[in-house]
Amino acid sequence: MSELLARVLKDAFRRYYRSHSVPAPPNIDEREFGVGDYGRKIVRRHMSFATEREFQRYLREEAPLYISYSVGYFERPEATPMEAKGLKGADLIFEFDADELGLFSPKDIWICNHCGAKGFVSDLKGVRPGICPRCKDPAKVIMFPDPEREERLKQEVDTLIKDFLMSDFGISSREISVNFSGNRGYHIHVRSEALRQLDKETRVELTEYITGQSLDARYFFDVTSVPMRGPKPSDPGWPGRIARSVIKAIRSSKDVSDLVMLGVDPRMARRIMRERQTILDGILRGVWPFLSREKDVFASITALVRALSPFMGKEIDAGTSADIHRLIRVPGSLHGSTGLAAMPVSNLKSFDPYRDAVVLPERPYLHLHVDMAPEFEFAGQTYGPYVDKNIELPLHVSVFLISKGVARWSLATRD
Ligand SMILES: [Zn+2]
Repeated sequence: MSELLARVLKDAFRRYYRSHSVPAPPNIDEREFGVGDYGRKIVRRHMSFATEREFQRYLREEAPLYISYSVGYFERPEATPMEAKGLKGADLIFEFDADELGLFSPKDIWICNHCGAKGFVSDLKGVRPGICPRCKDPAKVIMFPDPEREERLKQEVDTLIKDFLMSDFGISSREISVNFSGNRGYHIHVRSEALRQLDKETRVELTEYITGQSLDARYFFDVTSVPMRGPKPSDPGWPGRIARSVIKAIRSSKDVSDLVMLGVDPRMARRIMRERQTILDGILRGVWPFLSREKDVFASITALVRALSPFMGKEIDAGTSADIHRLIRVPGSLHGSTGLAAMPVSNLKSFDPYRDAVVLPERPYLHLHVDMAPEFEFAGQTYGPYVDKNIELPLHVSVFLISKGVARWSLATRD
C-alpha cells in the first residue's frame, strides 16, 4: 500500500475516533489490549488502560487500524509472559465467521497468489471456491455483501443463542450480547458471573457439547423396550434436537438417495421411505419401532443429525470459545480490513452490516483503480460490477475496496 493511501486511511480512522466515543469494555482495568496496523491485526499486545478516559484518548491520538481486548480478566493485564498476568476469569465468546463456515457466495471473487489468476466465484461453474481452477493451488476468496449469506449467518447465531445458550444452559438473554465483528461475521459474548470461572477443560467440553463432536445417538434410546423408545421432538437438549433433525430429514427427502446422501444406511433409508408417515407419527410420540438393536442403526442416526446440525465440525471456532488468552475486536471500534465498525447488535433480524456498520463519511471521494468487484449494495447504493475500472467513489466504499485489496489509488482526491 502506498504511503499516501495509508495516510488517507489513517486520517479517516482518526476523524472517526475524534467524533465518536467508543465505550470501554466492561472491567477495562482488568483487560489486556492489542492493536494492529496495515495487514497485521496484532502488532503490539500486553497493553492496558486504567480508565475509559485513558482508552478513548488513546483511540483519538493513535487511531489504530485494529484494536482488540482480552476475553480474560487479569490482576496485571500488562504483565508478560501470560502466566504473570494473574488470570481471574474469562468471558465466554463464540465466533461465527462466514469464511470458516465455508459460506461462499456467487458474489465473491477469488484470487490465486501462486499463478495470479482471479475471477468471480459465479463463473467457477461447480469448482469449489478456495482452489485455483488454473493451477489447483489454494486461492484466496474475497467476500462481498450478499443478503442470502447474511441471513444464513444470522440463523446460525440465533440457533446458538436460543437452542443452546438459553434453552440448554439456562443463560439469561441479559448476559448475552451479539456483536458484528466488523468483517465477515458475529461474536457472541456471554458475560455471566457463573461462567466466568470455568476452566479451559470445561470450556472445551462446552464447545464439544454445542458442536456435537462426541455425539452418539445411541445414548438417547432405550434399546430394552419393545417397540424401541427414543427422543421426542419436544425433549430438551440434544435428544429433542435429534428427533427434530430426523423428522426434518424424512420430510424433506424426496427419495431414498436423499437420505443416503445424509449418511443413512441404504437398507434403512428404503424402509423409512416405504413407511414414511407411520414412522413420522411414531417419532412425534417418542416411539421408534423401525430401529433394530444393531449398532449401525445408531451410526446412521448420528450421521444424519451431524449432517443437518448447523454447528457440526469447525463451524463454531472451538479455539475461540476455549482460548482464555484470546483477544477479540472491541465493539464500537473500526475494523481495518473493511472500514466498518465492529458493533453491538440489538436487533439481529433487521441488522444489515453494509448499511448499519458503515460509519465512515461519504466525503472525500477518491479516484480508484478497481481490479475486480461484483455488483454489491453498500450504504444504500448499488456499486459495480467493476473489472479493471478507473472510478471516483465515496470514502466509505473506497476504504472497503482498498482494505479488501481489490482497489488502488489512481489519482489525487477531491473534496
Ligand atoms: Zn493459480
